[in-house]
Amino acid sequence: MKTLFYSLVLAFASGLCTLSAQTRVVAHRGFWNCEGSVENSISSLVNAHKEKVYGSELDVIITADGIPVVHHDDSIQGMRIEEADYAQIKDLRLSNGEVLPTFESYLQTFSTLPDIKLIVEIKPHLRIVNEDRAVNAVVYLIQKYRLESRVDYISFSMNICKELVERVPYASVAYLNGEVSPADLKTLGMDMDYHYKVFEKHPTWIQEAKALGVSVNVWTVNREEVMKSLIEQGVDFITTDKPADLNRLLNQ
Ligand code: MG
Repeated sequence: MKTLFYSLVLAFASGLCTLSAQTRVVAHRGFWNCEGSVENSISSLVNAHKEKVYGSELDVIITADGIPVVHHDDSIQGMRIEEADYAQIKDLRLSNGEVLPTFESYLQTFSTLPDIKLIVEIKPHLRIVNEDRAVNAVVYLIQKYRLESRVDYISFSMNICKELVERVPYASVAYLNGEVSPADLKTLGMDMDYHYKVFEKHPTWIQEAKALGVSVNVWTVNREEVMKSLIEQGVDFITTDKPADLNRLLNQ
């Protein structure tokens, strides 16, 4: 009887370990690598939800008059977003015909899609004051739609990450730039989200982070052999332009 009890405990514990060790999929700028979609569009978010990924990533920049919009590059059709008023860019279309989304319109669609997280990347801005305004505006909108428990944050800007750690201590805030050690991230209260080549230079960082309880996301991984190696190393998340391929690999 005792042996059976211990066997059950062991089976349960190993089940838990398997669950917690499962690498999860983050669709990079949504799932746009399919018919009719384009990165950072609302259709790419809807596609990511259909693909049943853990999370969908997007990029946010704030306009001069304080409207956060979803876009990767600093500029759109020759206009620097940070220096443009929203009225100047609001009618611009993405290459698939969708209108350039505001972060609020993106959240309105997101709030209708259950069982997916949003990974919000706040882009570095030219002026620090604009980075702080972007953090304020993004956090305000997420609270307005009561989506706090469904959002993780990432940034290349250490200033933005520090602001977010202060403002949303309940959320995961991961730093992207790749030069800060797992131990220093732990001290800063941040998680790790680095390009996969960083771990060629620092091969112990994944295991160090895991031992410290710092979660590990790796970007942007599109090659199957790199996906396999990272899954074997037990990374928490892989960000990819090919979420359907990574899903298939994880479910083999
Ligand atoms: Mg991004």
